[in-house]
Parts: sequence; structure tokens; C-alpha cells
Amino acid sequence: MYDVIVIGAGPAGMTAALYASRSNLSVAMIERGAPGGQMNNTAEVDNYPGFEMILGPDLADKMLEGATKFGAENLYGIVQEVRDCGEYQEVVTGDQVYQTKTVILATGCEHRKLGVKGEEEFAGRGVSYCAVCDGAFFRNRKLLVIGGGDSAVEEAAYLTQFASEVVIVHRRDELRAQKVIQDRAFANEKISFLWDSVAEEIVGNDMAVTGVRIKNVKTGEIHEESANGVFIYVGLDPLTEPFRSSGLTNEEGWIKTDDEMRTAIPGVFAVGDVREKNLRQITTAVGDGSIAGQEVFNYIEAQKDVKVSK
Ligand code: FAD
Repeated sequence: MYDVIVIGAGPAGMTAALYASRSNLSVAMIERGAPGGQMNNTAEVDNYPGFEMILGPDLADKMLEGATKFGAENLYGIVQEVRDCGEYQEVVTGDQVYQTKTVILATGCEHRKLGVKGEEEFAGRGVSYCAVCDGAFFRNRKLLVIGGGDSAVEEAAYLTQFASEVVIVHRRDELRAQKVIQDRAFANEKISFLWDSVAEEIVGNDMAVTGVRIKNVKTGEIHEESANGVFIYVGLDPLTEPFRSSGLTNEEGWIKTDDEMRTAIPGVFAVGDVREKNLRQITTAVGDGSIAGQEVFNYIEAQKDVKVSK
């Protein structure tokens, strides 16, 4: 029986493992891919304190060293289910059932893809899903933002501090974003709109994106809009499929926690991008991880007191 099983070894999970193992708890991280999570898909990280710039995979390697240096195990597995057995939890992978006193869910999320030609080819070469991460690389450049919800419109406004021009491409003739966010965008001189429009293909040369083929859904007309970068905000999907039946998630699948990262099930915590939260970044993920890594220790100590008083 482990004291703690951490599911997912992104920055949130690895930090939780570091803190929990440093408190002398027995800890295992279970990860279905390479430790590092979304950091492995990030070329340059220039907003992580302490580093002027660090490559995402290098930061992942450093975090893994830290996560395992106090004895946390790094196990491979695709977690399929977590069973609440009252005083302990069972974590089920394809071929193993692990028992643990506490679980930290750190499975992150995925950016929803547009699914158009060129999207994968130009990922990291002009196609991005994260304005906070990549916006600064597009100073004085023209950008397209695909989407019409809160994220798309807010991120478009954020991008105007770097870009010379930001064009929001939206499939309808009005935005879905909250009124106050819309008003801010309409008042921003750097933002313009292509209504009733969908991206058909992202085009470019050997180096980078040069534009997007846009189709007007009302007229059927197609034109190529020039752009140096394309930011796609058509939604995020939480990776919470194994926990959907547990009642821990909101309607959209994000896991609800309190400030101590506790979920509705005692002994089960959630950290990082998988949580219901506003800012999904490496810094906020490690912040969550450190809190949960400490809280599991407090939880296990409190359970000992309960047993003694029985
Ligand atoms: P993740 O990093 O998503 O890690 C979750 C881990 O859980 C993954 O490794 C996944 O394989 C694993 N997992 C999922 N399901 C299971 C399962 N069932 N069983 C086992 N393992 C599972 N943030 C910044 O602060 N600065 C940046 O510059 C930056 N750039 C970014 C660039 C890109 C292209 C992307 C995609 C994101 C970027 N971000 C950036 C965001 C940042 O990477 C995330 O906020 C952060 O990685 C979230 O950490 P996490 O640990 O919560 O989740």
C-alpha cells in the first residue's frame, strides 16, 4: 500500500510527488507517456521564474530529477479507473491494481484541435494554442485567432500587446464571449473580425505559417488571409475520462477542488490543468502540486489520529 499515488507526471504531478516524498511518504507517479506532460510539446518557455528561457523538454527533465530525488517511483501505466474503497483507494491500470491511502489526480488537459490541413504540420512554427506562452514571439506580426468564445476573444486582446494586427475568425456573425469581453475587443483598434468564416487550411513555407485559407460559410467564398501566426481557441478538453463516474467533475469534465486541492472524496486531490480554474500554466500547476503534496501528509496524519481515537 502506497501513501500517495500521483496520476500524471506533468509539472503538477511531479511537484506533488516531490513535496509528498520529501515528507517521507511512499509515493508512486503513474504516467502514460514521457514525464513532462505538455512541457514536452513546448519549444521555448520564457515565463517560468528562474530561467530567462528554457526548452520545455529540458524543464521536464529537471522536474523529473527533483520529483524522484526523495524516492518517489516513476511508473508507466494508463490509469483507467480510481475506486474509492473508503479508508484507501484503488488505482487501476491495464494490468495492475495499486492500493494507496491517497490519490492526486494530475492528468491535465488537451487543446481541442481544429482538424484542418496544415494544423499539425505547422504546430510550433506559427500554430499555437497558448497566447500567454507564445504571444511574445510575434512582435509586430499579423495574427489570426480562430474562435469566438471567452478564451478566443480574451486571448486576442492579450495578443494585441505584441502583434501589429489581430484578426478574429469566427464561424458565426456574433461572438459567444461575455458582453464585457466583447466590448473590450470591439474598442481595440488592433482587432478586426472575419464573420461567418471558418479556417479550411493553414498554409506556409518551409519555415513558418504564411496564411490561412478561409471559407465564408454563408457565401461559400474562399480567400487566403495572410498571417504570421494562428492561435486556435476552439476549446480545451480535460483528461478526466477515468474519473467521470466518480462525481468529482463539473458538467464540462473539469475536477472541482477547494483551495487545498481536496476533491469531494476524502483522500483524493486534484492539481494542475485538470482542475476547474482560470489560468492554466506551468507556474499554477506547480503551485497546485506543492499544496497537494503537503496536504496529503496532513490528511494521512489526521487519519492516524482518527484511528487512535477509535
Ligand atoms: P500536463 O502537463 O497536461 O500533464 C498531465 C500528464 O498526465 C501528461 O503527461 C499525461 O500523459 C498524463 N496523463 C493523462 N491521463 C493519464 C492517464 N489516464 N494515465 C496516466 N497518465 C495520464 N505554460 C507555461 O507556463 N509557459 C509556457 O510557455 C507554456 N507553453 C505551452 C505551449 C504549448 C504548446 C502547450 C500545449 C502548453 C503550454 N503551456 C505553457 C501550458 C502548460 O504546459 C500547462 O499548463 C501545464 O503543463 C499543465 O501541467 P499539468 O501537470 O497540470 O498537466
